[in-house]
Amino acid sequence: MLILFDIDGTLLRTEGAGMTAMLSAARDLYPEHSFSFDGISISGRLDRLIWRDLMSNAGVEPTTHRHDAFRHAYGEHLRRGFDDTSRSMALGGAIDLVQALSDNDDYSIGLLTGNYEHPGRLKVAHAGFDLAHFKCNAWADDGEHRRDLPMVAMERHRLAHGKSIDPSQVVIVGDTPLDIDCAHFNGCNVIAVATGHHPLGELAGHEPDLLLPGLEDWKAIVSWMSGR
Ligand SMILES: [Mg+2]
Repeated sequence: MLILFDIDGTLLRTEGAGMTAMLSAARDLYPEHSFSFDGISISGRLDRLIWRDLMSNAGVEPTTHRHDAFRHAYGEHLRRGFDDTSRSMALGGAIDLVQALSDNDDYSIGLLTGNYEHPGRLKVAHAGFDLAHFKCNAWADDGEHRRDLPMVAMERHRLAHGKSIDPSQVVIVGDTPLDIDCAHFNGCNVIAVATGHHPLGELAGHEPDLLLPGLEDWKAIVSWMSGR
């Protein structure tokens, strides 16, 4: 099986370090404009879409060249933030779950996330995960929307293992309705956790295959996966 983990609100939380670094990057690049996340949807969306809204709301035309400059500046601000006062904290059970799955040859693990690759790796490493565990990843730059990402991770799994994997053998683990949606859209299994900004009741309405308060009971999650 291929297990694909969302980052923010699922594996870890950063107390807004990402958004702070995004704003700092935007203000550095375009000091004559004023930026804010007011009215911008963040939860479960790809970084590039958030960037586009951030620029448009501030009257900066979102061009490809500007996107490249922003992505680089954002990564640098986040890196400096983590070197300074920002924190990335693993959520309960997450490190144990990833370790248990990576110790078992039946499972491959990856990240499926709205983060750009560099900031995503920074967050995961600073929370104490071993990045070497995550081999089949899909990042914000791998598609237009989250629905595009599962196929990218599955293709990377195929290239690594020399045979394709059926979507029924893929489990997506996430904390937002968009995580659940991208799993359903691609025919994958989905575990939803309420450790992000969406409570259990809201997530239940999107009908994940397994709904949990968090990853704390990781042994039960491994046993659920082994029964699929
Ligand atoms: Mg998330």
